[in-house]
Amino acid sequence: MSELQRPAVEVRGVSKTFALRRDSVVALQDIDLTIGRGEFVSLIGPSGCGKSTLLRIIADLLQPSAGEVQVNGKTARKARLDQDYGIAFQQAGLLDWRTVQANIELPLELHGVDRAKRRARALELIELVGLSDFAKHRPPQLSGGMQQRVAIARALAESPTLLLMDEPFGALDEMTRERMQNELVRIGGETGAAVVFVTHSIPEAVFLSERVVVMSPRPGRIAEVVGVNLGPRTDDTREAPHFYAAITQVREALRGRPVPETVEVGVTVDQAAQQRAQGAL
Ligand code: ADP
Ligand code: MG
Repeated sequence: MSELQRPAVEVRGVSKTFALRRDSVVALQDIDLTIGRGEFVSLIGPSGCGKSTLLRIIADLLQPSAGEVQVNGKTARKARLDQDYGIAFQQAGLLDWRTVQANIELPLELHGVDRAKRRARALELIELVGLSDFAKHRPPQLSGGMQQRVAIARALAESPTLLLMDEPFGALDEMTRERMQNELVRIGGETGAAVVFVTHSIPEAVFLSERVVVMSPRPGRIAEVVGVNLGPRTDDTREAPHFYAAITQVREALRGRPVPETVEVGVTVDQAAQQRAQGAL
């Protein structure tokens, strides 16, 4: 398979143990997960179940104790060096003394992209995230939601095929959060990037994702993979009976109950890709 045909992410038999002074913590055990190109997958589970650890391993910010990760058919390290992914965390992590535009240009600047190209790309992204009137503002002048938009734009600066997001909307109020979710669905559609999205929120995971990976703690494992088949997301999606049904399914899985038969559990990447192509997801 050429790199372009490989899944966005392949996690094979990944375990991670952290050594502490006296004992050790098994943060992840035997994780297998394949994420298709352009697929939106959420990781959900109680605090401490290893969501951030898994995301950091995919991002090559941490090494697994066992197993391997491939991104676009390459090692996680090679993918990092090739800037195949962008990353956004709960804290926007912007530089307060730089303008919105200069914050978005930063990764391009660090990689030696010339000034005119940087500027053009930043302005395109500023429009994509709906901040056209704020290019020259500085982060302290912006609301939390606007700061997260800047962080997302920065993560997209190098046109990554994969976006890794760790509770990016966790600090936002509910209304802003829903607006940001709508935006992210649109941005995901426009960029075609695969997204791995960590969240505590069941409705958020269901609204955004094609599949919700439900994790259980100590040791962190994948308990269930719930396929979500809701069609194109709109504000009406949030009030649809199917939406509530999917929420119930994820909640049951989080409580360790078997997911009822009607749920599309563990849709394979190939099936998901087919359904996407047919406009079903
Ligand atoms: P989550 O993001 O799901 O809340 P984490 O991935 O942050 O969970 O953590 C999973 C487990 O690994 C937790 O028990 C946490 O205390 C432990 N852990 C995470 N990072 C470290 C570290 N650098 N050193 C030691 N233990 C860690
Ligand atoms: Mg975490």
